[in-house]
Amino acid sequence: MTAAPHTQGTVLVVNSGSSSIKYQLVDPVGGDAIASGLVERIGEEIGTVKHVVGDATTVREVPVADHGEGLRIVLGLFDEVGPDLTAAHVIAVGHRVVQGGPVFDGPVLVDAEVERQIDELSPLAPLHNPANLTGIRVARALLPDVPHVAVFDTAFFHHLPAAAANYAIDREVAAQHRVRRYGAHGTSHQFVSQEVAAFLGRDVAETSTIVLHLGNGASASAVKGGHAMDTSMGLTPLEGLVMGTRTGDIDPAVTFHLMRNAGMSVDEVDDLLNRRSGLKGMTGQNDLREVHRLVEEGDEAARIALDVYTHRIKKYVGAYAAVMGGVDVIAFTAGVGENDDIVRALSLAGLERLGIEIDAERNAGRKKVPTIVSTDRSATTVVVFPTNEELAIARQSVEVVGA
Ligand code: ADP
Repeated sequence: MTAAPHTQGTVLVVNSGSSSIKYQLVDPVGGDAIASGLVERIGEEIGTVKHVVGDATTVREVPVADHGEGLRIVLGLFDEVGPDLTAAHVIAVGHRVVQGGPVFDGPVLVDAEVERQIDELSPLAPLHNPANLTGIRVARALLPDVPHVAVFDTAFFHHLPAAAANYAIDREVAAQHRVRRYGAHGTSHQFVSQEVAAFLGRDVAETSTIVLHLGNGASASAVKGGHAMDTSMGLTPLEGLVMGTRTGDIDPAVTFHLMRNAGMSVDEVDDLLNRRSGLKGMTGQNDLREVHRLVEEGDEAARIALDVYTHRIKKYVGAYAAVMGGVDVIAFTAGVGENDDIVRALSLAGLERLGIEIDAERNAGRKKVPTIVSTDRSATTVVVFPTNEELAIARQSVEVVGA
């Protein structure tokens, strides 16, 4: 296959997990994904590499010893089946990094010092930052002639007002251990809040928006005049909305209770709250499609879980409307937000007196493109707006390298 030439250049966006690498070659101007793919089960006996260009998917089932080998296989596939990376003129590699801590308030060009700081922030994101850093290191070694940019999931929330960023705990403990609200999904919240205003022909500076990013992980944010005023994820992505496998908000004393009375260790409680709770814990299924199926079969636990899930979203909508002194736009995004009309309807049901009214017909079905789903008389415009974190990372990378 030959590559379409790109006069302005492209960005290779890389998202490295502990045993996976997701990537996308993005045209930051047109917004298209020219190629994308996924390396999974790194370090296991057999790994999978899936490389997608247009309608063609190439799959390799091979052992992938480590991230370096994973990326070498990916670059080999670009050589073999295209698009040719030289012709695609890669002007930057943009890396998603989960935790920028108190250090990073925007994307940065990666150098040895930035790598050191990402590493140093690992205690705040022990599952994510080390994997992100490994991805950065192998990519820099394999693509040394291209600038590499780190884009932090927390950066959009770096300047949260003190009232939202601080937890009410001993301030010396907080300072010493860097305990504060960092948030997550910031790239998506920033992208959606800006793009939804443009879609509606509104000035971001004059708009108060609640973004509901509902994927397997889920978070809400209040964005006023383009600035984040609050967000539901906290020190870690555990806080806030009910998620696929995470509790979201919970009395922290549940932890002491389980440790004292159920004999659970810290790691066991961590596993329970992060991986065995949320929809999965309440119904056995983390995917909302399965939860709806169970509800239809009359499963009482699934009905309660759906109520808990949407009740939590509604509480945040009310809270964030109050924080911003009103809300002009509510944007639903990510896998659940874009596809699940039942969740959208239940989450905003009964809010007419707050000026929020969903139109059942407009709301029906999955939305692949930005769609207004509120009634004409609704004071708040409710929009389903597909997120595109890869494009947002690509654009931020271009800004950093000044192309
Ligand atoms: P991630 O947080 O992993 O990026 P996504 O944003 O891709 O997650 O969202 C994945 C979730 O979206 C699934 O777990 C499922 O609950 C939900 N989802 C996907 N498609 C649908 C659908 N058609 N109807 C309802 N929910 C859906």
